[in-house]
Amino acid sequence: MIIELSELIKHKSFKKDIQLTYEEDKLYYDGEEILFIKPIYTEGSITGIGDIISVDLILNTELQLTCSRCLEKFNYPLEFEIHEKFSTENVEDDNVIFLENDKLDITELVENSIIMALPIKKLCKEDCKGLCQKCGTNLNIHTCDCESQDIDPRLAKLKDLFLDN
Ligand SMILES: [Zn+2]
Ligand SMILES: [Zn+2]
Repeated sequence: MIIELSELIKHKSFKKDIQLTYEEDKLYYDGEEILFIKPIYTEGSITGIGDIISVDLILNTELQLTCSRCLEKFNYPLEFEIHEKFSTENVEDDNVIFLENDKLDITELVENSIIMALPIKKLCKEDCKGLCQKCGTNLNIHTCDCESQDIDPRLAKLKDLFLDN
């Protein structure tokens, strides 16, 4: 969704309400394909005061992420607020994003904000046990015998000593 600002910014101040629901299939981030399992819903407003255009939105959707420990897919509901400032003038303020034309691409802003809101550590649950490094068993579901066979070689020697006596 692209908002034409040219008409709006003719006024000294303006406020435009936004309510938007749209479907998005997937996004690519960090070489990973992330599916949307719910439409993106966003609402809020675009306010212009002087040269500054403020976008204040609340957004919610649900994504499907892959757990970085056990590689299982899990649903990740996402709800957060977006607060960004734009200007069509060259304002000396690092917090203000310069718009080259009088167009504000809400869809792009939403997608970038979703990427920023992704967790750094993608875990299906806080205490995910992950996969066994030897046999690949998902340790959340099954246990495997690898751990019990995996005796520290120093301990093994000690065990031999005891057996000798
Ligand atoms: Zn996991
Ligand atoms: Zn194992």
